[in-house]
Amino acid sequence: MVKSHFSCTVSYQFDIAIGEYMKDKGVNINGYIDAMAIQEGTTMRSDCPVCGHKNSFSVTNMGNSIVYNCFYADCGVSGKIRHGLLSYGRLRKEKRRLNLSMYSQYFVPVSRSQKAVQYINDNNIKHAYDNKYARIELDIRENRVVFTIFDDAHLMTDAVGRSLTNKKPKWKRYCSSRVPFITSNRSDTCVIVEDCASACAVTQADVVGVALMGTNLVDNYISYIKKFKTAVVCLDKDASQKSLTIAKELFAHMSVHNIFIETDIKTWHVDKINEKFRVYSS
Ligand SMILES: [Zn+2]
Repeated sequence: MVKSHFSCTVSYQFDIAIGEYMKDKGVNINGYIDAMAIQEGTTMRSDCPVCGHKNSFSVTNMGNSIVYNCFYADCGVSGKIRHGLLSYGRLRKEKRRLNLSMYSQYFVPVSRSQKAVQYINDNNIKHAYDNKYARIELDIRENRVVFTIFDDAHLMTDAVGRSLTNKKPKWKRYCSSRVPFITSNRSDTCVIVEDCASACAVTQADVVGVALMGTNLVDNYISYIKKFKTAVVCLDKDASQKSLTIAKELFAHMSVHNIFIETDIKTWHVDKINEKFRVYSS
């Protein structure tokens, strides 16, 4: 009888090694099992990723580990995966959520600090704040004005905090979520700017503000931006190369304009904001 390397004599103590070995053979068992998303305490059957046999692959989520085996006699692949080896993506997301909930217990209303209120008034943020186009809070522990960031599912997924003291960094990204800060007002046009205060400022011209926050346009941002019909890339003229790269990137999805600026939008008079951006609003 022909037996594969992974006959049933191979038992659980072989554990992760098999997963790793098969991965080297071109079958990513860990990834396959991860995609099955099996709830704790349950068993699922599926086609075997190794031999391809129909419905012979059984996987049980035991809580702190996952055991799997193929019932097909000539295959018999089996193993055990510690949870730590499952989906780095999912673990990262979970870790971020925990980090954020740890930080956000120190988020309180902006009104608790005169300095925070002043910052909002002085940086063209008040319109967005008053109309709830942005959820802005005060990080009482670090003394920062915090702009919260929501993902596609409207869950708070990250936050960016501007220091009200000399505390470094001036802008702190609480979690590395790869989700942009976007104001929640409605328009078919978004204006892509560098920082959250400027993103809030442009809402005065009835366009949506998107803040890059020091990043180049990462792939993940595009899925958020391409929902708009028009994008206006509005960055410092010293960053013209970056502007053009972003425009090129977005051009496949929407109509794109570039505006090169010499001063921060957050310092502009409302008339100038209207004059520059209202023409694009819809
Ligand atoms: Zn099999």
